[in-house]
Amino acid sequence: MRRVYLDNNATTPVLPEVFEAMRPFYLEQFGNASSIHHYGQHARAAVEKARASVAALVNARPAEIVFTSGGTEADNLGIFGLVQRGDHVITSTVEHSAVLNTCKRLEQMGCEVSFVAVNDRGEIDPANVRSALRSNTRLISVMMANNETGVIQPVEEIGKIALEADVFFHTDAVQAAGKVVIDVQKIACDALSISGHKLHAPQGTGALFIKKGTLIQPQIYGGSHERQRRAGTENLPGIVGLGKAAELAQGWLASPSTPNPGADGARESGGSVEMTAMRDRLQDAVLGALEDAGVNGLGAPRVPNTTNFWFDHIEGEALVIALDLKGLAVSSGAACSSGAIEPSHVLLAMGLPHQRARASIRVSLGKQTTQDDIDFAIKVIPETVGRLREISPVYQKQTVS
Ligand code: PLP
Repeated sequence: MRRVYLDNNATTPVLPEVFEAMRPFYLEQFGNASSIHHYGQHARAAVEKARASVAALVNARPAEIVFTSGGTEADNLGIFGLVQRGDHVITSTVEHSAVLNTCKRLEQMGCEVSFVAVNDRGEIDPANVRSALRSNTRLISVMMANNETGVIQPVEEIGKIALEADVFFHTDAVQAAGKVVIDVQKIACDALSISGHKLHAPQGTGALFIKKGTLIQPQIYGGSHERQRRAGTENLPGIVGLGKAAELAQGWLASPSTPNPGADGARESGGSVEMTAMRDRLQDAVLGALEDAGVNGLGAPRVPNTTNFWFDHIEGEALVIALDLKGLAVSSGAACSSGAIEPSHVLLAMGLPHQRARASIRVSLGKQTTQDDIDFAIKVIPETVGRLREISPVYQKQTVS
């Protein structure tokens, strides 16, 4: 059976180039980067090379990069590491749980948190961030790109507000890294999180950019690794993979249009121009084929690889399962909490009624995605939505009356 994977915001496959770069570090070059012998020195050099590549991806200095076990740990370090009891923190209602639940924990620990709302396209108005500032505000944490809708937030404006108010600014750039150009100088952030497995590096890898001179409280204690900001023996092969993925991503971002599959390093999904065109082709074809359907976040700036559809009279979870049976992997924003399927907090925050939020699915492309994969999705999504609607008593009642 043919299988097509369009759930790259959940995780991406490790690219062959990345895997090849990692391979020797599992086998012959397995040293501990803290050891002083040949093996250790070789490992250390590889870690530092990767650090330079990750730093280059976000226009930071290598010393400003701390390797972590992923995006969640980077978010935890970037938030807990900068805040103390009694501080006030500003975040948004559409953050990933890695930030939202960290902020909820801060509340339990004696901090105050303001959750800034978004408009119906999922965008934060920087003016609302400004008006949420208080005399004891210590940190603003607002994501760069949303994992469900792909909507890009005005982080440069928010960075300016933080700078003027002299408060820290952390941004969760997990869904932005490798998809759009990131420049920590322009964003004027103090901390920025990335995750390896969203940009074709292995799961369990990530990094936090911490601006030079920023005192951050470590969240893991032990040895003096990572300049005492994150203890624990470095994940050598993972870090090498993250470095290679960052290098590849930087190459693609430097030439947004690479329409020549077959050229060295080029893929059918090309650069961001081709990726956007593929995503838009899918979006237009699906919306052209179906009534009572739309795209959440349409009209807002979005990362090139993501679209989030709503199809009225459909249960998103049922659609994801039906599509999976046909070989197409996508996801619904819904989460299962205490046995009940809850609609996505992001879509609800955008003002979608519960029913429409539950009738939404996320489709996300990756570097490995081909035009053929898009053709497959264009065929099976309308077909499956149509079939589910046919058997839906609610839909039939509506169309008959
Ligand atoms: N932040 C965002 C926006 C995400 O989408 C994710 C993962 O889905 C995370 C943080 C967590 O990253 P990780 O899976 O590397 O812990």
